[in-house]
Amino acid sequence: MSQVQRMSRLMVKTLRDDPADAETLSHKLLVRAGYVRRTSAGIWSWLPLGKKVLDNISRVVREEMDAIGAQEVLLPALLPKEPYEASGRWEEYGDLLFRLKDRKGADYLLGPTHEEIFTQVVKDQCTSYKDLPVMLYQIQTKYRDEARPRSGVLRGREFQMKDSYSFDTTDEGLAESYALHRAAYQKIFARLGLDFRIVSAVSGAMGGSASEEFLAPAAAGEDTFVDCPACDYAANTEAVTFTASVPVADAPGPVEELNTPDTPTIETLAAFLGVPASATLKNLLVKVDGEITAVGVPGDREVDLGKLGEHLAPAVVELVTAEDFEDRPDLVRGYVGPQGLKIRYIADPRIASGTAWITGANKPGTHARDVVCGRDFEVDDYLDVVVVEEGDPCPLCGTGLKLDRAIEIGHIFQLGRKYADTFQLDVLGQQGKPVRVTYGIGVSRAVAALAEQTADEHGLCWTREIAPADVHVVAAGKALQTELALEVSEKLAAAGLRVLVDERAGVSPGVKFTDAELIGVPHILVAGRRAGEGVLELKDRRTGEREELTTAEAIARLAG
Ligand code: ATP
Ligand code: MG
Repeated sequence: MSQVQRMSRLMVKTLRDDPADAETLSHKLLVRAGYVRRTSAGIWSWLPLGKKVLDNISRVVREEMDAIGAQEVLLPALLPKEPYEASGRWEEYGDLLFRLKDRKGADYLLGPTHEEIFTQVVKDQCTSYKDLPVMLYQIQTKYRDEARPRSGVLRGREFQMKDSYSFDTTDEGLAESYALHRAAYQKIFARLGLDFRIVSAVSGAMGGSASEEFLAPAAAGEDTFVDCPACDYAANTEAVTFTASVPVADAPGPVEELNTPDTPTIETLAAFLGVPASATLKNLLVKVDGEITAVGVPGDREVDLGKLGEHLAPAVVELVTAEDFEDRPDLVRGYVGPQGLKIRYIADPRIASGTAWITGANKPGTHARDVVCGRDFEVDDYLDVVVVEEGDPCPLCGTGLKLDRAIEIGHIFQLGRKYADTFQLDVLGQQGKPVRVTYGIGVSRAVAALAEQTADEHGLCWTREIAPADVHVVAAGKALQTELALEVSEKLAAAGLRVLVDERAGVSPGVKFTDAELIGVPHILVAGRRAGEGVLELKDRRTGEREELTTAEAIARLAG
């Protein structure tokens, strides 16, 4: 028999007003409904209601991971430096990593993700090819010193993640494990009641090759993804590639210098010459691992520094500063052009061979016209670096892409041999080294993602599987109503339901109803006006539909 949870004893203090620092709906509501409490920037305490939701999500994740044959383990969060030094991530992670020392001065970190440690465990435990394939997962606390911990539990510095890792000996095995995980994720997110899309992504600091993200469309999301209205293509904007062909210049003349005083920006230049910004070539200077590099994009487009960083990872990309120019007379700020430039030149694919541009002439107040790619300058590396815009061509079919915001709820990577090589993970008796796949689901983030997608102006609105209770019974206030509420609660619990009953004395019915809506249990059962006749009112939290039922009918309806 399930327990009846009484509101009078539950540690929950609901708030009428939004917390001052909250920007997103989930942040506001999870705090106001008493699910979580901020302990420090990006560090959250889970209160009883919140812990129940978190556990429900973990249960769904666990059931579906077990169903594909993955085995649950629990690795430490406090980790020695050495494995992360071996993989290079002790450095590569930069400021994101929480580093600490023990009493003897030895270096440790708080795990941001566990590829290294899982690889070591498998190396230790699986010595023969017969021991593979193996799929392992854990649901564990992760630590990342995020630059902008915001949106409540959406982006914490301490958060819960389900991470799993599969080890296979062949590429076919890797593909199979990947497919199993992908299917399990689809089941998990569907069971959680999340609206989600699977999109192509870039692997970033993780390394490896193919990767896909699971995105939950939501206004509060920090990711932008594109969706093709005409075909199946969907991708994180960071992964969008430009494949359309670019018209080349028709018999361009020789490079011609133009006197363009006081035109250090594209806007001033385009206005001065009376040309569209798209006719100009913008050259942004950045530092890649300290080395000054120019990045060329059409003048009407912006450079996506995040995307550039992902492409060049693990290199560190920074904007140049005034000091960087001090001993570089060859780099004329505001008038840089790729012709004759003595630094690495990265360009967007729109700067295709044969295209002609108006760009800086590497002299103060001077630009040049008919600067032709492939004739007057060479591109060292082509990378997709512009901020993707609504209407950009779909790489598969060319149709104008649609742009939407979303929350990343899960990510799967095919890492291949990267970590296996780092740790000389070899197994006896078969050719080739194990290949790896790695996967993550943001468990605590899923709480917020679900809240974002399902809440309304009255409060949270969980699906039954995830809600902290199956039914929220409200006693309007009179003794008779409280008696009926408690009686029906016991019966519902006896039928196996998780019941929250609001039998608080001295709290007005209005406050109880408001709290019930805010807390968001899917069914609200009220012992009110007709309690004397044994009649209750059942309200559907999502649709607002109400109906009057006897105790027996209510139990049959809810337990059925
Ligand atoms: P993001 O781009 O949002 O920072 P990530 O690419 O760093 O995410 P992964 O390293 O792939 O994320 O981690 C796996 C999952 O863990 C993510 O899909 C996300 O759901 C969750 N996650 C990552 N960072 C955080 C965080 N700071 N707070 C809460 N959940 C997170
Ligand atoms: Mg991150």
